[in-house]
Amino acid sequence: MADSHDVVIVGGGAVGSSIAYWLTRDAARSERIAVIERDPTYARASSALSASSIRQQFSTPLNIHLSRFGIDFLRQAGTLLSRDGEPPVELGLREPGYLFLASAAGEAILRDNHAIQRREGCAVDLLAPAALQARFPWIDTAGVALASHGTADEGWFDGPALMQALRRKAIAQGAVYRHDAVVGLDVAGGRVRGVRLASGTTLSCGQVVIAAGCWSASVAAMAGLGLPVEARRRTVFVFDCRATIAGMPLLIDTGGVWARPEGRYYIGGVSPPADQDPPDLPLEPNHAEWDDWVWPALAARVPEFAAVKVVNAWAGYYEYNTFDQNGIVGPHPDVANLVLATGFSGHGIQQSPAVGRAVAEWLSHGRYVSLDLAPFGVDRIAAGRPVIERNVV
Ligand SMILES: Cc1cc2nc3c(=O)[nH]c(=O)nc-3n(C[C@H](O)[C@H](O)[C@H](O)COP(=O)(O)OP(=O)(O)OC[C@H]3O[C@@H](n4cnc5c(N)ncnc54)[C@H](O)[C@@H]3O)c2cc1C
Repeated sequence: MADSHDVVIVGGGAVGSSIAYWLTRDAARSERIAVIERDPTYARASSALSASSIRQQFSTPLNIHLSRFGIDFLRQAGTLLSRDGEPPVELGLREPGYLFLASAAGEAILRDNHAIQRREGCAVDLLAPAALQARFPWIDTAGVALASHGTADEGWFDGPALMQALRRKAIAQGAVYRHDAVVGLDVAGGRVRGVRLASGTTLSCGQVVIAAGCWSASVAAMAGLGLPVEARRRTVFVFDCRATIAGMPLLIDTGGVWARPEGRYYIGGVSPPADQDPPDLPLEPNHAEWDDWVWPALAARVPEFAAVKVVNAWAGYYEYNTFDQNGIVGPHPDVANLVLATGFSGHGIQQSPAVGRAVAEWLSHGRYVSLDLAPFGVDRIAAGRPVIERNVV
């Protein structure tokens, strides 16, 4: 063995870099932490292609707790992630909230979700159509039975900047990033004994973390393990609108089309219906989604959006957990020193600060300390015990 590490993290996106950041944060510790990242340009990484929004409006308390820590972390990022002698980290956090709209068919679910969110202390208002119109005069309320507006702790930020800041801070604290691809995991006696790299090196390791985003299933397969995580393409359209929609939150229409301001432009998109959402589509924008779904919905909901121009578009992959669309986090029961952090299905960048902290706790102490992520353990899949999240965007 040429090289030995206490922890080897496969994937240096926001999740892998957050784990590395938290692991190296305590200067008194002397673990050797390696992050293996095959593409330091992050050209296809979800963290570089994310819409990077953060909300409290989930239906699962644990998702709310993860994102609540996320917003606190983002607010403090300038202090936590800046490095001596470098310009302060600026993540461009904006907090205009999320606005979910429900048709009559979705009204009961929105009410149920709201009750959970209020129990968890979230600042979310339920708005009947007249109140919705009064608060947001630019909305056409046709077909809306009820809306929920998060008035605090929700918005958007610069996700790629968060990933880079976590990465740089982790390196400053002692993590080693290697530009290489993991091509094999040697498992014997129920443990990963070696991590094989494309360069020909084999790393010996105490523990291995799979944080390889939508490619995590292929890495788990190297250890002979199945993981229900697929690469599902999502297109984001950037559009220009002459009118300024003052104070616009992140709008999620009754059918799932979403839009929000982005600098002087707006961005928007939709998750395709399940029967038109196969894995591994080419990473190219699907412009038909704009014509068929996104623009018709937005033009009807926000009359000012009837006259807009698409100026750009990009596509990225959700690391989509086909079992229950929630993170798969924590140790694998069949391989003692293998830990997972993947499957976040569209809410991973906002959860990366809390997931990184939790996984680092697990690796350091063999248990969660600040937030118990056991419900997101991989064992729920074999047990057929999904964590149902009804607010997947
Ligand atoms: C269009 C879009 C919009 C989104 N919007 C939001 C949002 O509004 N809010 C939100 O919270 N989340 C959102 N997400 C989801 C979020 O971006 C992801 O959940 C998050 O970025 C996942 O981070 P990650 O580090 O797990 O994966 P990635 O950023 O993909 O990083 C994984 C890394 O692993 C590396 N890798 C893979 N295999 C190997 C290997 N064998 N060897 C070495 N390296 C390897 C890859 O090169 C990659 O850099 C969105 C995603 C997309 C695509």
